[in-house]
Amino acid sequence: MAMSLFRRHSFSHGVHPPAHKDGTAQMPIRRLPFPPQLILPLGQHIGAPAKALVSKGQEVVRGQPIASAAGAVSVPLHAPATGQVLRIESVPTSRGTREPAIILNVYEASTQEVLWQQPRHLDGMSRDALLQAIQDTGLVGLGGAAFPSHIKLRIPDDKRVDTLVINGCECEPYLTCDHRIMLECPDDLIRGIQLAMQASGTRQAIIGIEDNKMDAVNLLAEHLKDIPHISVQAVETKYPQGSEKMLIKSLLDREVPAGGIPADIGVVVNNVGTMAALGQLLPRGEGLIERVITVTGPGIERQGNYRVPLGTPIGFILEQAGYEGGANEFILGGPMMGPAVSSLDTPITKGTSGLLVLNEPQVRKESRPRWACIKCGHCVSACPMHLNPAWLGQLAAAGEYARMSESANLEHCFECGCCSYVCPSNIPLVQYFRIAKAINREQAA
Ligand code: SF4
Ligand code: SF4
Repeated sequence: MAMSLFRRHSFSHGVHPPAHKDGTAQMPIRRLPFPPQLILPLGQHIGAPAKALVSKGQEVVRGQPIASAAGAVSVPLHAPATGQVLRIESVPTSRGTREPAIILNVYEASTQEVLWQQPRHLDGMSRDALLQAIQDTGLVGLGGAAFPSHIKLRIPDDKRVDTLVINGCECEPYLTCDHRIMLECPDDLIRGIQLAMQASGTRQAIIGIEDNKMDAVNLLAEHLKDIPHISVQAVETKYPQGSEKMLIKSLLDREVPAGGIPADIGVVVNNVGTMAALGQLLPRGEGLIERVITVTGPGIERQGNYRVPLGTPIGFILEQAGYEGGANEFILGGPMMGPAVSSLDTPITKGTSGLLVLNEPQVRKESRPRWACIKCGHCVSACPMHLNPAWLGQLAAAGEYARMSESANLEHCFECGCCSYVCPSNIPLVQYFRIAKAINREQAA
C-alpha cells in the first residue's frame, strides 16, 4: 500500500530530547555468545508468573519449555541454551524486587541451533487456535510493557477493532534496536503483522515510524507496495510519540477515553520488535529465547545492537561490549522511562530493550541537586496528557496522595517523564508520581 508522508502526523505537547542514536543506528545486529550462566525469572511479563517445569539437576535443550503459563494472563518460558538447571532461587530484578528464577548452567558446547520446535499448519487456523499458538511461543510486548501478546490480540466480544497500529517510533533517546529490526528483518515483520491481523480480526494495519528513520520508512514502503491493507506512515520525531495514546492520535486522530483502552476506539497497538518475533517464531513453532537490545552510552567500547539470550546478566554484556568502568548509572531501556539497576547480576528479560550506561554528567535529573518550584509552567506545556504536573508535585510533597487521584487525575499520568525532563528545578516529578500511585494502590488493596 502507499505511504503517506505529506501530512505532519503528531500530537500536542511532548519534548525533543537529544537523540543520541548515532553511535548505534548504523550498526548491524550482532549475536553475543552464551554466558556461563543464565538467570531466568519466572515473572518476565505482566500477569501470573510462569510455573517451573524443571527441577535442580535436570538437563534441558535450547528452545525447550522450562516453565508453563500459569493461567490465561501468563506465558511459558523456554530454555535459551542447552545446559543443566543449577537451582531455582530468588534473584534481583529490574523492578527492584526479588523474584523466583531458574538458574541454568550453560554447556560450553551449547549450539545456537534451536533443538525444540512445535511446528503447526497456520493456514486456515481458527482465531482461537492461532491465539493459543501465540501464547505457546511465550511472546510478550518487547517494547518494554511485556504484556502477553495473545491477550493483547484477543479482542473482547463487546469491542469492534478495525486497525492494528504497529509502533516503530522508538522515541526513547539512545535506543535503535527497533530501527535495526525494521531494516534487517522486514519480511519477519510483515509476516508477523499479517498473523496478528488474522488473530485479532483487524482489516488494516498502519506502521508508524518517526521521521528520523526515513530509511526504514522507505524500505518498508517498498516491501509493502504489493501487499494490501498494510501501510507505513512517517510521524514527527517527538517524545513520547511511541506511547500508545500519542501514536493513535498521530496516525488516526482518535483519542482513547480516560480510563479506557485502545480497543474502545477500534484500535490495537503492537511494537515492531514484537511483530518481527511473531513472524519468526510462529511459522517455526519456536518459543521466545532471545531478543535484540541496544547496548550504548559513554564508557561502552563496542556500542551496538546485540541479539542476546534471555537471562544474560548485564555484567556479562558489559564484559563483551567492553566497559571501562566508572559509570554512575545502569539503565535497562531508555533514559526517559527505563529503570536504573544497581546489581550487575540483573538479567536481560523479555521486556528489556536496551542497556544504557551513563556517566557524570549524563546522569538523570533525579540524581542532581533540586530546587523549589519556580512556577515556570514548563511541565504543564510538556505534559502530553495535559495534566498539571506542578500541582501534582505539590500534592505529592504534602503527602496528599488520595487528592492527587481525586482532583488532579494522577491515574491519567503514564509516567513518560516529560515533566521531569523540562523542570529547571530538577524536581523528580515522575518519581513522585510513581510513589504516589504505588501508595494509592496499596491503600486500595
Ligand atoms: S510523567 Fe505524567 S504528569 Fe509528567 S508529563 Fe508524563 S504524563 Fe504528564
Ligand atoms: S517545571 Fe518544575 S519549576 Fe517549572 S512549574 Fe513545573 S515543577 Fe515548577
